[in-house]
Amino acid sequence: MPRKLCNRNGSINSTLPVAKLLRLSEFLHDNHGQAEVSLSFDKDDAGHCLITGSLKADVRMVCQRCLEATDVKLASDFAIKVAETDKEARDIAQSGINTLEQLEVVRSEEGELDLLSLIEDELIMSLPIVARHTDKDCSETLTSLQEQARQAGENRTSGSIQGLEVLAELKKALKEESDKQK
Ligand SMILES: [Zn+2]
Repeated sequence: MPRKLCNRNGSINSTLPVAKLLRLSEFLHDNHGQAEVSLSFDKDDAGHCLITGSLKADVRMVCQRCLEATDVKLASDFAIKVAETDKEARDIAQSGINTLEQLEVVRSEEGELDLLSLIEDELIMSLPIVARHTDKDCSETLTSLQEQARQAGENRTSGSIQGLEVLAELKKALKEESDKQK
């Protein structure tokens, strides 16, 4: 399929439910969300099939602080040259004129390329290593703020107990002083 699309400069613009991407879903809190897929197919000067793509997806991952769901935006831009034979793959790799950044070479099986798994691979590679809420949205932050407030409250209490002790010491000292004067 990619070969034909490259021959006629085809393009694909569509949305893909995250639920269809089972391997990606394993990294997520749940499989809610959509991926926006934009692929264009061309041929380079040497006749190799070139796919440039842009992917965006809103997914939910597990916050590593509070373990609840947090929204994550995934984005991936990529350029791929498709090789139908190992020799073609070597030729592309050695041509050295790959000015495109992050160019990948993908070996297709008899001209067939699994676009779905290619898209899925790119999305998996764009996952953040650690997902986290921003401080204000994280329930763990809220818990720790409440904890801090509670501790501050305890300090105030123990502070006033200390104050009473100091007062008792002072009274005792004054009494001893006045006893001495008798
Ligand atoms: Zn969180």
